[in-house]
Amino acid sequence: MALDMGRLVSEMTQWRRHLHANPEFGFEEKRTSAFVASKLREFGLDEVVEGVGGTGVVATLRRGSGNRSIALRADMDALRIPEQGSRPYKSRNEGVMHACGHDGHTAMLLGAARLLAEESGFDGTVRFIFQPAEEWGRGALAMIDDGIMQRFPFDEIYGIHNMPGLPVGHFQTRSGAIMSAEDNFEIVLRGIGGHAARPHSGNEVLVAACALVTSLQTIVSRRLNPTDIGVVSVTELITDGTRNALPGLARILGDARSFRPEVSAEIEKQMRIIAEGTALMYNIAAEVIYTREFVPLLNDPALAEEAFAAAADVFEPGSIEVRQEPMTGSEDFARFLDYVPGCFVFLGNGQDSPPLHNPNYDFNDDGLIHGARLHAAIVRRRLAGNAPIRP
Ligand SMILES: [Zn+2]
Ligand SMILES: [Zn+2]
Repeated sequence: MALDMGRLVSEMTQWRRHLHANPEFGFEEKRTSAFVASKLREFGLDEVVEGVGGTGVVATLRRGSGNRSIALRADMDALRIPEQGSRPYKSRNEGVMHACGHDGHTAMLLGAARLLAEESGFDGTVRFIFQPAEEWGRGALAMIDDGIMQRFPFDEIYGIHNMPGLPVGHFQTRSGAIMSAEDNFEIVLRGIGGHAARPHSGNEVLVAACALVTSLQTIVSRRLNPTDIGVVSVTELITDGTRNALPGLARILGDARSFRPEVSAEIEKQMRIIAEGTALMYNIAAEVIYTREFVPLLNDPALAEEAFAAAADVFEPGSIEVRQEPMTGSEDFARFLDYVPGCFVFLGNGQDSPPLHNPNYDFNDDGLIHGARLHAAIVRRRLAGNAPIRP
């Protein structure tokens, strides 16, 4: 039976605005996941399991006799950003805001679940994954650690993110690298602080820290192969000095991005060499703490082609674009791709949309129907009776 699309659009818009007004930070998505689970039960899905990886929800829909399984993933968490503006569904959770459009991603995946539960049109199993804590890169890993791959196995996975700057009704993806790895670093410099009038009687760390910040800029410009993409950004320099006392401790914090593990490894190696060299030069001690928060997101080439083919059922021919360059943003969807192939795609949020993570950002409700239909089109294409394991 065909679902009334006008009704689905107004329902998804209501859900999206409800979620927007009630944002929850990563691993605190209790009311969000309860809302999601209650909707999924209402739609009559075969199995709805809450509490996967903390606050995650996984629902299953089976049709026909096919033994293949496709996963569709949305993220549910919001950010600690105070929302600006006066929209009627403005955040009621002070200081927390859906500034990345995960409210929209959740609503469109609920829409797809309703659409596929009602209309079917596929043969096999669909897993609807609503994951927590994408923003701090922990939610997908939490679900994996909780056994999602064994408890709810699937052969392929797809995810959608909205994209400010891209017109509504436009679709973009690419084969291979699409989102970067994110590494964090902290360099601690230890010396001997003291009186500002007597620098020679100690080993203060601020001049060394400033030299180190400058030297770190040479990792990308002088140490990486120019054909590789890398970003090293120092974002904080904190010392224990005061106006008339030289610091004995400095902490330099920052963030590095790359698209290949070899590049990430090279950035860390060069950072350690430069930190140790600088410490030696200034007769202080340096400690480097380097962590990998997000892995690079690599779309499977064959499944990217399948996503383009599914998009052709949803978008106008001139609205389907091959993304030329990867983005130096990160996504923990990439963690699932360590286990199964998949594809991550972008959906237009409008040319006038404020950027993601901006206090004036809002998900564009006109995109909801495209997202729901795209999820459904991917399922119908990949679970069309005898779809081969690899296209
Ligand atoms: Zn985000
Ligand atoms: Zn996001």
